[in-house]
Amino acid sequence: MTRSLVTGGAGFLGSHLVDRLLARGDEVVALDNFYTGRRENLAHLADRPRFTLVEHDVTAPLPRQGAMSGRFDRIFHLACPASPPAYQRDPIYTTKISFLGTLHALERAKEDGARLLQASTSEVYGDPEEHPQRESYRGAVNTLGPRACYDEGKRVAESLCMDFRRQHGVDARLVRIFNTYGPRMDPNDGRVVSNFIVQALAGKPITMFGDGLQTRSFCYVDDLLTGFLALMDHADEHGPVNLGNDGEFTMRELADLVLELTASRSQIELRERPADDPMQRRPDLTRARTRLGFEHTVPLRTGLERTIAYFRALIAEGGKVIAQGPPRESRPYDSRTQKESL
Ligand code: NAD
Ligand code: UDP
Repeated sequence: MTRSLVTGGAGFLGSHLVDRLLARGDEVVALDNFYTGRRENLAHLADRPRFTLVEHDVTAPLPRQGAMSGRFDRIFHLACPASPPAYQRDPIYTTKISFLGTLHALERAKEDGARLLQASTSEVYGDPEEHPQRESYRGAVNTLGPRACYDEGKRVAESLCMDFRRQHGVDARLVRIFNTYGPRMDPNDGRVVSNFIVQALAGKPITMFGDGLQTRSFCYVDDLLTGFLALMDHADEHGPVNLGNDGEFTMRELADLVLELTASRSQIELRERPADDPMQRRPDLTRARTRLGFEHTVPLRTGLERTIAYFRALIAEGGKVIAQGPPRESRPYDSRTQKESL
């Protein structure tokens, strides 16, 4: 039986990945400190055999006790805040998570002889001058701006993976994820898909940053995870490989579709565009297609319908939903207050 560790397992992508791995027959340990993830995302697995949840902060070395004591065959390293408001809330902590978290995951992969997947990002391309973005493009990141904690953090995490491969022979694999959405997104984390849906359902103004002509390519979560597993199952592909959807939409098109699908009468309200917000983003998926047989299958309309149904149910159940999706109150994060429960 394959034994898999998912860091960031209580997050949006991590919790779906845990479900997929359990369905394949893996034994799975999810490790998380709930910085941006939610216990509710894994609540349905409470009594599930072959599954354990461990509370731990990846900026500290990974524990060796309890469920963390055995050897892992595979490590999926996802632990890191992903939405701009979340990673900018405490940028120094974000950089620590990216660097130290990846270092600790790689050290564990080295000790265990495990294969590791690093959840990298299209943000390594910054505000790109090449369009669409191929894996060979080296990016245009502002090292001094408010997004640098995340962008540069993820870039150094990629370097670490390469150096662990060259120096220690660790089988580390890199995926560069383009905007992915779906059920279990945190309704309050400020990403555009969750913001627009929650605002539309609440009849509140749709917060459009800038003129709304900037573009993104949105991938449904199930498609992305198929790509993750194809890369981890591949005999010799290490990436980096772009994963996402190569359909490209302006934020205005996204808003119009959300308004149509929710039958909402919310108005669009223009807000200032955040610093260093990339103007366009679209993956070149040639490598994913040829090397992994990857294809996205869920059209944006269908994926949005499923995501809207999720948020509707969450609101009906009295879930804590803030329609505006602002950054949470700024507060330094003290990892010493996080206890480890094994
Ligand atoms: P998310 O915020 O829902 O999940 C991140 C998880 O990591 C959360 O459960 C959080 O509590 C956990 N975490 C954060 N800091 C931690 C720490 N110090 N110790 C332990 N756990 C910690 O975000 P997501 O969208 O699921 O993203 C998962 C991964 O994929 C991230 O690494 C992110 O950078 C990457 N990614 C996501 C997207 C996307 O569109 N969703 C795009 C590019 C990259
Ligand atoms: N955006 C927006 N309104 C919002 C949240 C985001 O117009 O309420 C824009 C944002 O400026 C960016 C795009 O939507 O151009 C995608 O933002 P998101 O935070 O989802 O992801 P990222 O910028 O990391 O791709």
